[in-house]
Amino acid sequence: MGYAEIEELSEDENLLKEEVHRFAEEVVRPASLEIDRMPSSEYPRRVVARDSPYWRVMRAWKRLGYHRGPVPQVFGGEGLPARMVHLMVEEVAWGSSGFSIAFGVDLFPVLFAASGFDEELNQNFVRPWLEDDQARYHGCWGVTEPEHGSDWLLACDTILEGEELSRFTPGQVRAVKDGREWVISGTKSSWISSAPAATHVALHVNLDIARGSVGAGCVVPLDLPGVRKGPPILKLGQRDCPQGELVFEDVRIPEGYRTLPEGSLHPSTGLMTLPQILCITSSWMAASSVGLARAAFEEALRYCRERVQGGKPLVKHQLVRKKLFEMFTRVETARSYSRRVMEHVWRENFERFTFRASYRHALAAQVYCKTVAYEVADAALQLFGAYGTTDESLIQKLYRDARVKLIEDGTTEVLSLEGGGDLIRNY
Ligand SMILES: Cc1cc2nc3c(=O)[nH]c(=O)nc-3n(C[C@H](O)[C@H](O)[C@H](O)COP(=O)(O)OP(=O)(O)OC[C@H]3O[C@@H](n4cnc5c(N)ncnc54)[C@H](O)[C@@H]3O)c2cc1C
Repeated sequence: MGYAEIEELSEDENLLKEEVHRFAEEVVRPASLEIDRMPSSEYPRRVVARDSPYWRVMRAWKRLGYHRGPVPQVFGGEGLPARMVHLMVEEVAWGSSGFSIAFGVDLFPVLFAASGFDEELNQNFVRPWLEDDQARYHGCWGVTEPEHGSDWLLACDTILEGEELSRFTPGQVRAVKDGREWVISGTKSSWISSAPAATHVALHVNLDIARGSVGAGCVVPLDLPGVRKGPPILKLGQRDCPQGELVFEDVRIPEGYRTLPEGSLHPSTGLMTLPQILCITSSWMAASSVGLARAAFEEALRYCRERVQGGKPLVKHQLVRKKLFEMFTRVETARSYSRRVMEHVWRENFERFTFRASYRHALAAQVYCKTVAYEVADAALQLFGAYGTTDESLIQKLYRDARVKLIEDGTTEVLSLEGGGDLIRNY
């Protein structure tokens, strides 16, 4: 194990941490590198083929039952305490930040589905998903659309301010009621993580475009007639988490599959609101960023112990020591804060069900930890010199992964605008 905790972990927490770290080191990281090194011409075909490293990892994850850990007991999951969830996400992200996201979005449809307490959906999806040990079920989360990127996030802030939504491009994926079914049409952007591999999506839909972006959430099985999945796109980083678009042409779902009702954007409903969903994703993104930052720091430390310049290892040069210490300090502060935030967010959403976690604190964790991951990966790559720029070095992959994180789940700028809004309204 690469680092010693200053926080006292219980025996169970230590066991889990060691177990997941081993899984990350022996299973996740090698598969992640295999995917990252696939030739561009073969990547779209190979990355989600059933015998790909992606599915090898996903099957192992489900076989070990890790997917059930973060799901609250009231929904049939194990309901692990937030600190344990944080430990899991950090360790997995140490092995691969892309897989930590794939495991995160996998949870979305089941959380959406279980929140609706619809018996048909529970039988057809929630229970089989929980019992799955072969990765027969795999989820993704569809929010952004070709014309509806940052706007979905900024619409949240606007609603919380009580302002009109008219200046934003409304979400174009719509759901129209027809008897006892909802009919869904529209396109989600090419950036939907894990969509090319997924069997179900937690989908944000617009019920009435004329009224702006106020929407609802539903669960859509991706084998229904009228669903088309785009191929995995080629991208800068996190190639181990394939992304692609989702197209819906008059796709019919039973009425009970719409599980987050109209207006679920607004906190006054007393339900899981969009800002609360963002609190959950923010704490996951923060933990994932800590794991990535730690991987980059440890990789730099290892290299600086070995690489000799000026007649001695790099670690014996004062400037290098200072840099390493600054990187270490960032990783440690990011972990301390993101753990606290995840504990708070989990308590309010999955234990007390108040749905009132502090938006600004969760956003601060996401923005801070993503920035730390990028800065630490950047500093680490610099310490590697030219070797760090080559395809064979792990550090250049970590750097690319950290770079895309600054955009994933909302750009750091737009998340900061959101956090600033909450600060000014409520501090
Ligand atoms: C690795 C990765 C994984 C992703 N996974 C998912 C997923 O699973 N599901 C999903 O739905 N989406 C996903 N996304 C999409 C992601 O949420 C969006 O890319 C993000 O919200 C930004 O939207 P956009 O790309 O359309 O950029 P735009 O909204 O077009 O923004 C472009 C630039 O303009 C800035 N900007 C925009 N509006 C404003 C404003 N009002 N004021 C000031 N600046 C502004 C932004 O900060 C940015 O720099 C993923 C993206 C990435 C990179």
